[in-house]
Amino acid sequence: MNDFSKPVPVADSDSAPFWEGCRAHRLMIQRCGSCKTPRFPPMRTCPKCHSTETEWFKASGRGTVYSWIVVQHPVPREVYGQDVPYVVALIDLEEGVRMVSNVIGLDPHAIIGNMPVEVTFEEGQGGVVLPKFKPREA
Ligand SMILES: [Zn+2]
Repeated sequence: MNDFSKPVPVADSDSAPFWEGCRAHRLMIQRCGSCKTPRFPPMRTCPKCHSTETEWFKASGRGTVYSWIVVQHPVPREVYGQDVPYVVALIDLEEGVRMVSNVIGLDPHAIIGNMPVEVTFEEGQGGVVLPKFKPREA
């Protein structure tokens, strides 16, 4: 054990609905209130039509692995050393947005491109709930 704590996300006014959703085990995604284009991470203006109208909706939680790394030598080692090896991946959600997360529940070396995954929620430090992904049947 050590005295180092892992950094946890801090919600701001744009991302607060996302983190509130995670606490309720709902993967909430922002979309444009005008052209309805989903976007992640949350932001104030639609990159497509520049509208500032915003909506939130519950994503299916299903996606596929776009790309990934298997972390063997984390920095700082004092914080993450006990977790290796672990997967940091880009996940393409069915709704058309891409997010960074961890893929858990499998041998990190067994992960393959386009692997079907689904969201799961993990309690983090300080009451933060993190969305992670686990393998699912295609
Ligand atoms: Zn738009």
